[in-house]
Amino acid sequence: MKKFDVIIVGAGVAGSYLGYLLTKKGLKVLLLEKNKKIKKDSGIVSTNINKFLKIKKELIKQKIKRMKFVSPSNRIFYLKSKKPFAYVLQRKKFGTWLRNRAREVGAKIIYEQCKKVEITQNYALVYGNRKYAGKVLVGADGASSVVRHHLSFKSPRIFNGLIYQTRKNNEQDITIYLNKYFSSHFFAWCIPKNNEYGMITKNTDSSIFFQKKIGFKPIDLIYSPIPIGCTKSFSNRCLLVGDACGQVKPITGGGIIYSLICSNTASYVLSEAFEKNRFDEKFLSKYERLWKREIGREIALQLLIRKYYRKMTNKQVDVFFEMFGKDIENIDNFNYDKASTIIWKLPKIKILKFLLKNISLLFEWTYD
Ligand SMILES: Cc1cc2nc3c(=O)[nH]c(=O)nc-3n(C[C@H](O)[C@H](O)[C@H](O)COP(=O)(O)OP(=O)(O)OC[C@H]3O[C@@H](n4cnc5c(N)ncnc54)[C@H](O)[C@@H]3O)c2cc1C
Repeated sequence: MKKFDVIIVGAGVAGSYLGYLLTKKGLKVLLLEKNKKIKKDSGIVSTNINKFLKIKKELIKQKIKRMKFVSPSNRIFYLKSKKPFAYVLQRKKFGTWLRNRAREVGAKIIYEQCKKVEITQNYALVYGNRKYAGKVLVGADGASSVVRHHLSFKSPRIFNGLIYQTRKNNEQDITIYLNKYFSSHFFAWCIPKNNEYGMITKNTDSSIFFQKKIGFKPIDLIYSPIPIGCTKSFSNRCLLVGDACGQVKPITGGGIIYSLICSNTASYVLSEAFEKNRFDEKFLSKYERLWKREIGREIALQLLIRKYYRKMTNKQVDVFFEMFGKDIENIDNFNYDKASTIIWKLPKIKILKFLLKNISLLFEWTYD
């Protein structure tokens, strides 16, 4: 049985970045990954990514200075900024680059599927084709985490993220469609540089309507789960990072930046755990306290905003565009990772008027 300091299940964004950080700190790290292929997502990240990684030019497909938002009756506003606020990444190259970086500093990557984990008094045991032992186990294995399942932690709510590949694209701008007939809980989108249309949805039936209404012909479809809402992220000898514990923005479903933030926190807590030889649940709970300090409030606010949005009708979405479109266009300095701050920048009196006019949004919660 091969022994490691830390075994990370999953070499996606969270696992590869954490593997790199921990190996740099002198720990013996194994990354166990089931897929040689890099997961496909839209690859939009805020420019805050530069705080974590020196992103080379070749990893950036497009710098984003504006995004177009379209309402059900084709009202439009732009979220814009003088300087780029986000990038479209070369997603496959980015994923490969992250894995290579971890490997180059000395992390071991083995391509095997983790089938089972077991936490004993002295080790975390991971069963792939062979058996591996680590002093600590990190589940960075995405929304359908096997590690989370074996720890018996509650699952976050899971939605479907659909990406349609097309040959050509009629849009100029990255476009977000807020239309309940496309996606009742979230939104649909178009990213011209990726030749991509997409949507987050619970009910994939609406995707046919989306295709017909926008008028595109997909040549390929990829779908992956998107977790919404956080779960517990620590246990004896074990942490969860990234999608595995729902470290995702509830408004957009984006999790790349939150994965980097939380991997940083995990590496800090784990290096302290190794210094003190403390791998118990009580000590590792520090990890959750610290990452929640960074993004917990924003996740809670975004969950609340999403609850309001989920209840809105198409008519109310149109009213929102009419009332606030110009105000949103006038906001220049915003943090793309903290969408709630955009709402706080809107005129408070108008928000109050909107909520009073649509009072049912405040009181009638639906759970589905
Ligand atoms: C359609 C779609 C579009 C998206 N667009 C964006 C976007 O534009 N911007 C953004 O920030 N986020 C986006 N996301 C979310 C983003 O993909 C995730 O939040 C991010 O990749 C989280 O990284 P992760 O490392 O936690 O999980 P993942 O990237 O899912 O990585 C998990 C890794 O674990 C591996 N794995 C899983 N199970 C096992 C196992 N049993 N054994 C071994 N390995 C295993 C997987 O193969 C995978 O490599 C999108 C998601 C979807 C579905």
